[in-house]
Amino acid sequence: MPRKEFTDRRITVMGLGSFGGGLGAVQFLAQQGARITVTDLRSAADLAEPLAQLAQTRGITYHLGGHQRDDFTAAELIVVSPAVPKDNPYLQLAIAAGVPLTSEMNLFWELNRAPVVAVTGSNGKSTTTAMTHAILQATGRTCWLGGNIGRSLLPVVDQIQPDDAVVLELSSFQLEDLDRLQRSPHVAIVTNFSANHLDRHGTLSNYRDAKQAILRWQTPRDIAILNQDDPDVVTWPTVGRTLYFGLSDAGRDGLFLLHRRRLAVFRNGGTETELAVPEWVQLPGSHNLQNALGAACAACALEVSAAAMESGLRGFKALPHRLELVAEVAGRCFFNDSLATTPESAIVALAAFEQPIILFAGGYDKGSDLFEMARAIVFKQVKAVALMGTTGPRLNELLDQLDPAQRIHRRVCENFTAAFHWAVAQSEPGDILLLSPGCASYDWFRNFVDRGTQFRDLALTSSDLMPGDRPRPASS
Ligand code: ADP
Repeated sequence: MPRKEFTDRRITVMGLGSFGGGLGAVQFLAQQGARITVTDLRSAADLAEPLAQLAQTRGITYHLGGHQRDDFTAAELIVVSPAVPKDNPYLQLAIAAGVPLTSEMNLFWELNRAPVVAVTGSNGKSTTTAMTHAILQATGRTCWLGGNIGRSLLPVVDQIQPDDAVVLELSSFQLEDLDRLQRSPHVAIVTNFSANHLDRHGTLSNYRDAKQAILRWQTPRDIAILNQDDPDVVTWPTVGRTLYFGLSDAGRDGLFLLHRRRLAVFRNGGTETELAVPEWVQLPGSHNLQNALGAACAACALEVSAAAMESGLRGFKALPHRLELVAEVAGRCFFNDSLATTPESAIVALAAFEQPIILFAGGYDKGSDLFEMARAIVFKQVKAVALMGTTGPRLNELLDQLDPAQRIHRRVCENFTAAFHWAVAQSEPGDILLLSPGCASYDWFRNFVDRGTQFRDLALTSSDLMPGDRPRPASS
């Protein structure tokens, strides 16, 4: 049944975007019979993908490649993408004309009837969200996954039943909008907090303030799950019942690794339960163990069985382009971490392995300081580095300073195929070949997805590059 409040209303969707939110809003409003105008600064060519998904939807007016005043002053409602800065002049026009503003997530929130578990943080949001979803699914309950992870649940909101569960990833921008509704999720997980998006939020304190909206409107019946190992997050004020998670146990209530790291303990008002969380997690790196502890802590708070937690975590595969094992060829493991577009994330990836690493590093120059990344490469005694893209030569200079004896093999490469071939030639069985560039991809690739996909495709067909490792015929 269409909802009367939208039928025949003139509604502008500002920002179609490529990540699902704008598209979800348009699909939902079309179901309701609204008179929709979609406007975006980007051109139809840039928006080809989401537009293709709307090809069958009739009656939408498109104003692309720029905005028109009337779409803001004469609309009855504007659904604004979280990517649009609040001081956008067209939004100011709408506000002056008394037109109400909302967002895809706010619309979902107002209509959704199921309890929400939501995740925010500076890193690890998507992984923790997907892990939480996998665990809750394993209980047999119908569980919906959406939000910033790239799927809008708005078009399916009427199918979500009150006793289902909804698991959402929320960005700081979505939370900033949700704050206006004065609503927070039933269970809120905060993974960590570090400087990010300061171009939009202005100051670290504004960014923190936006993120803290996930806790701000909770009631004492709600649950806050905070990362004890993050010195900022551990101090965040909460209203709900508060549980922590961490890689060591300081006696708080929550889920913590015990000192031998094989087991975790869930402590809750005097009772303790041991859980083999580290054994269940199949992803490399202590950052992923932290993500799993956050997800499992939420599950413990919701009284999910250990069996469901085990099944959800054991079956959980890395999300694409996030330390994803894409191929095992001739004893080498190829990990695609193309999403590592900052030096910090490459450092996290390097720390995740004990085996010898052959690294693919460098790319488009965002002006990041690469010194700490170069230091991590040397500290880790990486076996070889294939240097890529615009920042390849700069990383090479830093490595020359830090490793003058050239103990770490390195080569500034001409293109990705050359980098791949050189890297494979440096490898032996037992090595990890790791694409974790620490830089954006726009110089050699369309985007990080293109970079990761090319890496996977090369890895899957790489056995010809390692002929020496093929089983040899037995000599007579
Ligand atoms: P987000 O959704 O916050 O971007 P993801 O789960 O998509 O996070 O992970 C993106 C990248 O962030 C990973 O490839 C990894 O490099 C890094 N990362 C993931 N989890 C953590 C964590 N708990 N702490 C620090 N870095 C992390």
